[in-house]
Amino acid sequence: ELWIQRETDTLILNTLKTQYQNNYKEVETMLTKLEQIKKNGNQPMAIAQGGGGGNNNSNKDENTKFKEALQETIVPEKPNIKWDDIAGLVKAKESLKEAVILPIRFPEIFKGARKPWKGILLYGPPGTGKTYLAKACATETEGTFFSVSSADLVSKYVGESEKLIKNLFALAREKKPSIIFIDEVDSLCGNRSDGENDASRRVKTEFLVQMQGVGNDDQGVLVLGATNLPWALDPAIRRRFEKRIYIPLPDQPARKFLLKHNLKNTPNTLKEEDFERLSQLTDGFSGADMSIFVRDAVLEPVRRLQIATKFKKLPGDKYMPVEDNASGPDIVNLNYLSLNQQQLELPQISAQDFEIAIKKAKGTVGKDQLKDYEKWTTEFGQDG
Ligand code: ADP
Repeated sequence: ELWIQRETDTLILNTLKTQYQNNYKEVETMLTKLEQIKKNGNQPMAIAQGGGGGNNNSNKDENTKFKEALQETIVPEKPNIKWDDIAGLVKAKESLKEAVILPIRFPEIFKGARKPWKGILLYGPPGTGKTYLAKACATETEGTFFSVSSADLVSKYVGESEKLIKNLFALAREKKPSIIFIDEVDSLCGNRSDGENDASRRVKTEFLVQMQGVGNDDQGVLVLGATNLPWALDPAIRRRFEKRIYIPLPDQPARKFLLKHNLKNTPNTLKEEDFERLSQLTDGFSGADMSIFVRDAVLEPVRRLQIATKFKKLPGDKYMPVEDNASGPDIVNLNYLSLNQQQLELPQISAQDFEIAIKKAKGTVGKDQLKDYEKWTTEFGQDG
């Protein structure tokens, strides 16, 4: 059964036309009825009866098959990433809380004119925490969380992709409140009209139909998309993401947070001013760049260990690598391989380790790229 709401735009129907080529009349009827709805008022009305009676059973089996395949996209355990683990992105977090937590916990608030968001797009340079934010949503909400990529939804069999998408939404409605997170949504709903084939057009149409909630009560299902290439999205899909939030590179305080957060409880001698200086030196780094930078820095003592020839003997039969020119009664010549796990003690991470690592570290996002995101934000987005 297909329902088309008053606001449904002709775009969907035009695309439906392509999809239902064999049944052109059905689409014509839909268009006429849509016109009537537009004239007569808000009430959604049934406009087409789907499926020929005889096939119902086999449809049922098929749908069960698809739903079983899709069970794997349900995230079974909370990823244990909290809002507080996320550096910066204050506004993005607020918007997500508004979209994700409130409607699930207090559905009563969202009645009448106050409607929860149905589609939220997180976009920005790679490695800025879009997936990470989605994981925080999964951790912090009580609903069902689906995490899908285009690989889960694109099938090589003709017609299966649409059915997968349809069943994904059906499953999400069954298990609502739900969040459907689609990473790299551009690869599923791109805008490459040249060379676009029927299959990808049908996938997009199904998406439009499902995101519009056509024929279904779609309260309690939120689609959360993430993309590094917002401009590659099909414009119709773009509009279905009612809220589009820019996830930019971390600013200086966020980079400082990331340095400390990534270092976690690794013993270190860094002082507040070291963190301050390092966070300034890493201008242009993404969150992912920052975590690589820290991982590299904390490996410095291990690298020194491998080439160390001198070790300082500590109480408890422990040895710590020292500079080659060190001397004294407690300095011994050793190769680290002659020590066992209990005997080895690494020096704490120091600011100097970071100084060495920063020389090798690089940001992965170009300035030109940032301009593209900023331009797209002025046109279609919202600052996060
Ligand atoms: P993308 O934006 O490409 O989806 P991810 O969310 O996968 O990026 O980020 C990659 C990694 O970088 C994360 O696993 C996380 O460790 C780190 N990271 C990026 N941005 C942030 C952030 N704002 N706060 C905390 N960690 C971050």
